Amino acid sequence: MTTPTEDEPGTRPGTAGRAAPAKAWFARAMVWLWLAGLLTLAGAAADRAHPLVAMGVLLCAVLGTLCVRRDDRQVVQAPAPEPEPPQASRPPVEAPVAALVAALPEPALLLSPDGEILVANERVGLAIGAARVGDPLSFLVRVPEVLAAVRAAAQDGFPRRVEFAERVPLDRWLEAHVVPLHLYSAKGRDSGVRGAADAAARIPAPDAVLLTFRDLTQQRRVEQMRADFVANASHELRTPLASLSGFIETLLGPARNDAPARERFLTIMGAQARRMSRLIDDLLSLSRIELNAHVRPDTPVDLGGILSHVCDTLTPLANDRGVVIELTRETRPLVIRGDRDELIRLFENLVENALKYGVTGKRVAVDLACEAGPAGPVAVISIRDFGPGIAPEHLPRLTERFYRVDVAASRDHGGTGLGLAIVKHIVARHRGRLGVESTPGEGAKFTVRLDVFDEAAKNQISAKA
Ligand code: ADP
Repeated sequence: MTTPTEDEPGTRPGTAGRAAPAKAWFARAMVWLWLAGLLTLAGAAADRAHPLVAMGVLLCAVLGTLCVRRDDRQVVQAPAPEPEPPQASRPPVEAPVAALVAALPEPALLLSPDGEILVANERVGLAIGAARVGDPLSFLVRVPEVLAAVRAAAQDGFPRRVEFAERVPLDRWLEAHVVPLHLYSAKGRDSGVRGAADAAARIPAPDAVLLTFRDLTQQRRVEQMRADFVANASHELRTPLASLSGFIETLLGPARNDAPARERFLTIMGAQARRMSRLIDDLLSLSRIELNAHVRPDTPVDLGGILSHVCDTLTPLANDRGVVIELTRETRPLVIRGDRDELIRLFENLVENALKYGVTGKRVAVDLACEAGPAGPVAVISIRDFGPGIAPEHLPRLTERFYRVDVAASRDHGGTGLGLAIVKHIVARHRGRLGVESTPGEGAKFTVRLDVFDEAAKNQISAKA
């Protein structure tokens, strides 16, 4: 952390005391100069020296003596050496002020009105750069708008807010708050003000400026995500809606009496309507899960039972696609604290994806195991398919809303692009971890890790079973 400056020159005690010996030395020098002048004059009279040299030496002696006498008069007028008044030079920043700046939760700098750094807190070093007390602000911040705002606030006493973006080393948005302060001149202010103009006239110019920064990057990203989400959701709904209106017009017009066409169109319309309803269901689930994200579910649930249920429910779909679901699980109950419906939704989404996208592998392996974790036993659930897998560049974005590796394939399978986003949110609500591994050509493996509930609850559940 940067600390406030030490005493400023001119405010140090003893400065006037050191001036006295210097003055005595100067007076002695003048006596010698007078002697030298007189000797040279005598030399000139005896034709031993040039008269101009004698005149020059004597002139110096006269001027020097005048200076000593003038200085002496001043010393007589101000005999006691007083420290300079605070207005003449900036006093050191007081410790409580420096402590306050240091305690601020955001990067904060206390500046002199001319932009010199007086105090910088630790967060400045982390978020903005290395700040050195005594340096001008422009050494640290090179944004003209911020520098101009500091200058203007120091002149007119009005606070300012500046938003700016940085491209290097990372894209980020920041907000600078510039607040002029009267740290030393509070006494100069008039409390019995009558009018605003009157007051402004009586308030002295600020003697310090507080500059704080706020990182807006996260906020901007969330705003961007929200805008993208609304745009994506509207687009996803508009496509089937446009198709439905098109078919309705055709059925009312040219295909009014065409029975085979009507049959075909109505089948397509049914599929589009189901797609819209799936999308609305997924959107509603997502918002419900997000709404409760901060509330950790606490009902003891047996993971083995949930996985058996999911595999049984999806067996008809697997049979339709010629895929076998293989479930491997421990016989004893593995209990976690969770929300049964959400956990069913989570594993249904993962197994359904494995059946949809890994159909060529003909096999989906669902495993439930227990391993030791840093804070106790952890349930590890993995869902593995042996299909084409996922290219590594897609893995980091898979859980983004509406992100699909192959949009057409997803739509063919009735996908909404929200399944893995829902999975991610359910895992997060259960304070678990989600992992994805894939080798293209060999399939994909999704792993969920959830903390196992304590032994007592496990025994209770097994007793009930
Ligand atoms: P969707 O509704 O499209 O299935 P998801 O969020 O469930 O949406 O999945 C996002 C995308 O991730 C899918 O469109 C698909 O491209 C890819 N994906 C998910 N699971 C698998 C898998 N097991 N194998 C290959 N690709 C997968």
